[in-house]
Amino acid sequence: MQKILNYINGELVEPVSGKYLDNYNPAEGKVYSLVPDSATADVNNAVEAAQQSFEAWATMPVEKRSATLQKIADLIDRDLDKLALAESIDQGKPVKLAKAVDIPRASSNMRFFATGAIHFASEAHVTGNEAVNYTLRTPVGVAGCISPWNLPLYLFTWKIAPALAAGCTVVAKPSELTPMTAYLFSQLCMEAGLPKGVLNIVHGLGPKAGQAIIEHPGVPAISFTGGTVTGKKIAATAAPMFKKLSLELGGKNPNIVFADCSFEQAVRTSVQSSFFNQGEICLCGSRIFVERSLYDRFVTEFVKLTQELVVGDPLEEMTRVGALVSEAHMNKVLSYIELAKEEGGKIVTGGKQVKLSGHCANGYFVEPTVITGLNEQCRTNQEEIFGPIVTIMPFNTEDEVIGYANSTPYGLSATLWTENLTQAHRVAARVKSGIIWINCWLFRDLRTPFGGMKQSGVGREGGWEALRFFTEAKNVCIKL
Ligand code: NAD
Repeated sequence: MQKILNYINGELVEPVSGKYLDNYNPAEGKVYSLVPDSATADVNNAVEAAQQSFEAWATMPVEKRSATLQKIADLIDRDLDKLALAESIDQGKPVKLAKAVDIPRASSNMRFFATGAIHFASEAHVTGNEAVNYTLRTPVGVAGCISPWNLPLYLFTWKIAPALAAGCTVVAKPSELTPMTAYLFSQLCMEAGLPKGVLNIVHGLGPKAGQAIIEHPGVPAISFTGGTVTGKKIAATAAPMFKKLSLELGGKNPNIVFADCSFEQAVRTSVQSSFFNQGEICLCGSRIFVERSLYDRFVTEFVKLTQELVVGDPLEEMTRVGALVSEAHMNKVLSYIELAKEEGGKIVTGGKQVKLSGHCANGYFVEPTVITGLNEQCRTNQEEIFGPIVTIMPFNTEDEVIGYANSTPYGLSATLWTENLTQAHRVAARVKSGIIWINCWLFRDLRTPFGGMKQSGVGREGGWEALRFFTEAKNVCIKL
């Protein structure tokens, strides 16, 4: 069976304990590789390597740093098919999606921050003609980057690329559920000639390997993407050590459809934004609110399009909804369908596990599920499910729907559908979400700040915000 290895000090190494965890192919429900069960000793080795390589990497001319990172992007492009296949097998997503979205975005992340670092500048101010104050930004040191399983290489590179571009060295941990593409990435780093110790990848469990990174006194900055509960634990550990923290957490995103919307576009994109990647994208809209006069027509068309989605083998070209990432996650998602029924919800379509035949007979598939008849306060509408489940509710007024949208503890993203420009801007300003899409979904300019409000996160990633996060600002004042 294939063994994934840690990448420490420029080499692929076994975990110190020699212990491994099973890595599942979720479409087949069976173990297909082994992932290191790393612990404190592995993290200590990784941090030591990152500390030793820091000075040389931080002071290297930025063009040279940038060239190495761009070389890695080129290698991702070269290996697009191989990486997409690996990600599909590891995570359960349709290979078509991995090829069109996840892997190209991983290479864009590397290229965007590699080139951004060349243009990164800091400010200078002449103060009353008496002094010049300038801001000196220096890389913060060893950065800890921890990423989740839903967009494995996409989110892994979204964290490490700005850290490396800013001149930090990195100790990173991908999710133990989807380690394969980060492993392949470590091989690309070696091929690209990334100096040893600049990036170190430690695989393993969150509470063990992940926690060891957070606790390590030699890691002054933590960039984390994952669940809100984990984010709270990380903040509790890191805050008393005064570490810099960026937390990108869960969501329960509203999708608001006004009666004057461009109907075809609204309903088609809403089906995508509900079920893309099996609903396992933090930015998926999981609560759809439709203005009452359009409600029946919208539900009918939405259900029709949902029923056309092919749930199947992620490796098949026609598949639109693949496997959920793990059996535990599938059971969690199914338990929310039961909860929705107990709360008085009507399952309009879906609601069951899908049993496929052939090599996917034991895979973790769930029907795209549409639920109506719930109120906004019930648990189904308050808690993040992170699967192919969406609820639809009618509303009467703008104030009412803004109240619904803002009624959860989350505030990650929101989508609005209306042809009324004034209304769109007014509602966008009042919905408490870090990102608002108007008449579209999932478009993002990487230069914009990205992040959540309320319990969806702290800090902003993307653009200069990310490069600033990985540096420390010092003000230098010179008397004229
Ligand atoms: P998770 O919180 O369980 O795990 C995320 C990562 O943290 C994994 O690598 C895990 O091993 C690690 N981890 C777990 N416990 C840890 C600890 N005590 N210390 C350090 N690391 C620890 O999340 P998940 O289930 O992998 O991902 C799904 C969640 O991620 C959802 O809530 C989703 O909304 C969220 N997410 C948010 C964004 C965003 O940008 N806001 C993007 C994608 C996913």
